[in-house]
Amino acid sequence: MAMGKSMRETFRSLSAAEFFYRNREIAGFSNPSRALYQTVRELVENALDACDSHEILPSLYIGIKLVNPQKSFYKVTVSDNGIGIPPHYVPYAFGKVLFGSKYKLRQTRGMFGLGAKMAILYGQLTTGKPVEVETTPLGSRYRYYFKIMVDIKRNEPIILERKMRRLKKKSHGTAISVVVEGDWSRAKNKIYEYIKRTAIAIPYASITFVPPDSSEATVYKRVTNKMPPPPKEVKPHPHGIDIEMLKMLISVTEASTLKEFLAESFQGVGPITAEKFLRDIGFDPNMSPHSLTAKGIKALTSELKKYNGFKPPRADALSPLGEDLIIAGLKRVLNPEFVTAVTRKPSAYLGHPFIVEVGIAYGGKIPSTEEPQLYRFANKIPLLYDEKADVSWKIVSNAIDWKAYGAEFPAPLVIFVHICSTKVPYKGVGKESIADVPEIEKEIKNAIREAARKLRTYIFRKRKEEELKKKTIVYVKYIPEIASSLAVLSKPSNTEINGGGLTVKELEKMLLNLVREKLQKLGASINVESLRRSIKIR
Ligand code: ADP
Ligand code: MG
Repeated sequence: MAMGKSMRETFRSLSAAEFFYRNREIAGFSNPSRALYQTVRELVENALDACDSHEILPSLYIGIKLVNPQKSFYKVTVSDNGIGIPPHYVPYAFGKVLFGSKYKLRQTRGMFGLGAKMAILYGQLTTGKPVEVETTPLGSRYRYYFKIMVDIKRNEPIILERKMRRLKKKSHGTAISVVVEGDWSRAKNKIYEYIKRTAIAIPYASITFVPPDSSEATVYKRVTNKMPPPPKEVKPHPHGIDIEMLKMLISVTEASTLKEFLAESFQGVGPITAEKFLRDIGFDPNMSPHSLTAKGIKALTSELKKYNGFKPPRADALSPLGEDLIIAGLKRVLNPEFVTAVTRKPSAYLGHPFIVEVGIAYGGKIPSTEEPQLYRFANKIPLLYDEKADVSWKIVSNAIDWKAYGAEFPAPLVIFVHICSTKVPYKGVGKESIADVPEIEKEIKNAIREAARKLRTYIFRKRKEEELKKKTIVYVKYIPEIASSLAVLSKPSNTEINGGGLTVKELEKMLLNLVREKLQKLGASINVESLRRSIKIR
């Protein structure tokens, strides 16, 4: 009896909320500095998701306020003009771990109904303060206000306060405030960098940031109204399946035969392919999917993963930025002298579609550094930590001979790498660096080379022009002298030498025209007039 009781206690299962709180460093809440950064990140990503997937041009406000200087409590507020949240759903969205609207196969920033809740749980446990949510769903005329805490043991929301008011004007969107124990002075650089890189990736967003230590806001104004196409929902590809997923698909299917089940539940599998595949691997195509044994499910999973007769995974679930937006984003934030971008065709690894995009920005306001400045993004989220462990760093620092492309270090060179996928292959649990998946590595390499070739063309043309300019300066400097010597020769007594009778001015003009013609033939864009003026000033 006593034994039974203690057994029950020992094996009490953790609630999902408790489990994640105990493992908070996995989700990026390991210390006050990282936690402050992560809180901003989670709220910003939710705000952008609420706009992006519904084709609303985002306007974001991000504010951090020091609310308790003795204890270093910071209030982080992020407000957006997204689709809002239906009021009955608010307590669960913010008070129940693993509750979310993104359990679908398509590219979003959030995924598992976890992010914001980690910030809320962390805040609750370090400061004892509830989360405040204000929201107006699309089409509603009400602003709903909630104060919520999480009952960690039960993984259920506790509503402390709830209000609503009618709005005079139509609007939509959400504002969320979380109070967390933070360390602004240590998180500051990362938070500014995160916002800057978000501004690069999302040039169609307006972002205002008000930091705790200055009343001066950082503002990034929207520079384009173009948005990437929103991702579509897709069925899983057989190569990306695992046993649990197959069980789940079987449990919800209404198909009466195995072949029907495959054709309906997966992409890339038609009825004919399904029948052929099942016969090839010795399964009866007409058996009921519900009569599969555990062993059968295991065997089917491994056959699905390796069969080569399916169509490759589709990329409609992805939402790449596209070359124009990458260029617009790099320009708005970095003011480079040269910028280019490449969006590769969709590709796949292990049944997961992905697209690699690369941008290169060079010169202008970009400071020169000893190493390339790498800006990494996964599904439009900037990745700031663990750079040296990332596959992109390996390529940028080792596989590319930048000198051959005209960039000699120290150089003002920024490389933007974006990977979008329904499953980004992160290295480890921190989700800050991407693993060396050969298919992805190859795409990144090719994309960087393609963009770097354009950089080379630009740099080499520029160098040539500079040489030509130096030469032109020499000619232009001596033209007046040459002209007056020629004029002496062209006095009436010397008419046979130069055709006769030209003045210094006329000779100068002739010679300048010769220089101009020559430059034009070389395709150089050097303005001889302004060169002359600049020489005269000196
Ligand atoms: P995830 O983003 O991984 O789904 P979160 O805990 O971050 O999980 O958010 C839970 C859910 O709350 C989201 O799936 C979304 O439905 C909703 N949500 C959170 N923030 C917003 C927001 N700013 N606007 C609209 N919906 C939101
Ligand atoms: Mg989220």
